[in-house]
Amino acid sequence: MKQHRLLTLPHREKKWASDRMKARKVVLFPTPGAGHLVAMVELAKQILHHSGHTLSITILQIHPPSTSPLNSSNTSTHVQAVAASGLDINFVDLPPSDYDPEGEGLMQTLSYIESQKPALSRTLTSISAVTTVSAIVLDMFCIGVAGVPAELGIPTYVLYTSGAAMLATFLYLPTLDMKYDRDFRELKELIHIPGRSPVPASAMPIPLQEKKSPSYQWFIRAAELYSKLDGLLVNTFEGLQPTPIKALTDGLCTPGSRTPPIYPVGPLLGLRPESPEHDCIKWLDRQPHASVVFMCFGSMGAFSPEQIAEIADGLERSGQRFLWSIRIRPSGASQFSEPEDVDPREVLPEGFLERTKEKGLVWPRWAPQVGILSHPAVGGFVSHCGWNSTLESVWFGVPMISWPLYAEQSMNAYELVNDLGLSLGVLMKEEGGGLVKGEELDKAVRSLMEGQEGKKVREKMKEAKNMARKAVEEGGSSYSALASLVQKWTKGH
Ligand code: UDP
Repeated sequence: MKQHRLLTLPHREKKWASDRMKARKVVLFPTPGAGHLVAMVELAKQILHHSGHTLSITILQIHPPSTSPLNSSNTSTHVQAVAASGLDINFVDLPPSDYDPEGEGLMQTLSYIESQKPALSRTLTSISAVTTVSAIVLDMFCIGVAGVPAELGIPTYVLYTSGAAMLATFLYLPTLDMKYDRDFRELKELIHIPGRSPVPASAMPIPLQEKKSPSYQWFIRAAELYSKLDGLLVNTFEGLQPTPIKALTDGLCTPGSRTPPIYPVGPLLGLRPESPEHDCIKWLDRQPHASVVFMCFGSMGAFSPEQIAEIADGLERSGQRFLWSIRIRPSGASQFSEPEDVDPREVLPEGFLERTKEKGLVWPRWAPQVGILSHPAVGGFVSHCGWNSTLESVWFGVPMISWPLYAEQSMNAYELVNDLGLSLGVLMKEEGGGLVKGEELDKAVRSLMEGQEGKKVREKMKEAKNMARKAVEEGGSSYSALASLVQKWTKGH
């Protein structure tokens, strides 16, 4: 079990005692997955800024089983850096629960989170004894504990770390549940959801595919709990997703029920500069402007040896420069375990590295994605469309090709192509788990880097980049949304 023991108990007491000086505190409760924790930490920094440093922040940390898909060993350096930054953010570990959650994957994590209720109650009670807790912000997957702060009279919010269209989908699930008596995986039709263009039922996230599954049932229950929240912060901005944001605020996604106030406060990104000495950055320094396709698939993305061979074939055929972050999941490992670093010679087709050495870099471990996307040599991004990767691509104005793999990525992929025009197309395994062929990747990559269609996406992405930067400037839409909320927290509800 991974532990970041940043504050032991006596230190914690001391820190809380020093908080007495502060009028108010906001408590944040993230899950440890890379995309979730980093956004929450960024939110913490911005709350401090907006409050003029009159609020203090406590971030509660949990340590779900190592097999959880919401666990990423790659976030610990980020946490250490923030903890050491001198900002008024302290990290408090909730004591690991003895509870051994059953099931696998997301459900295992969700039930682990709910097992933390007694620890959360004790911790919030102790904090409240020395300072006023103005609000708690839960990660989107921590909604199961929302009753605890509510009982203590603490205003409760959620940070939704995916986009507004996905939030619209999720809040609309109970309505879809009544409309369809069959599982999404059996439906051949397009699903209509307010605020987004229709999507194939097969694109609905896997945990929602089967009505009887515990995960589907969890999301139905969660949608009801969301309706009771004091507010929903969403990692997006007005300019990027105006249509789903309007559908949400107009209450179209929760017919017959309440939608809490929506605060689009993004993009919340962990934008730490990368060392110029990093091998990926040094390699990019030697490449022409906007010439490199970057391929990276999130904290959990891994491919079979057969798919890796097809990707290699596609990249080689395309003749484009590439930086390919490749990780594997050893055969027999749970699909929910983190992928592992790899010796590229063991998995790539024979001779591939030699043949492409002038054009490509294969990076066989966690890649410095933000540093890479910000590099002027990068001209395209083949991405799994995790929401953070999407926002990072937008922030740096890099046009995308969507290759969704898990979670809600298919939904993001369709939205990026059909609604936002920021991705050129969707590469997806055929139903039944076929491969994306080398020819498909070749065609998509050449079209993105050299074709007319790629040009259009590049232009759109440029506009989105400008809007993203404006949104977080003083007076911008996200800046103002968070400022209004923090003002409320500073003064008390
Ligand atoms: N990431 C990275 N290097 C990698 C893979 C991922 O830095 O090799 C970062 C990426 O920049 C993003 C986060 O991990 O900030 C992944 O979040 P996202 O929501 O895109 O996908 P998830 O991992 O949640 O599927």
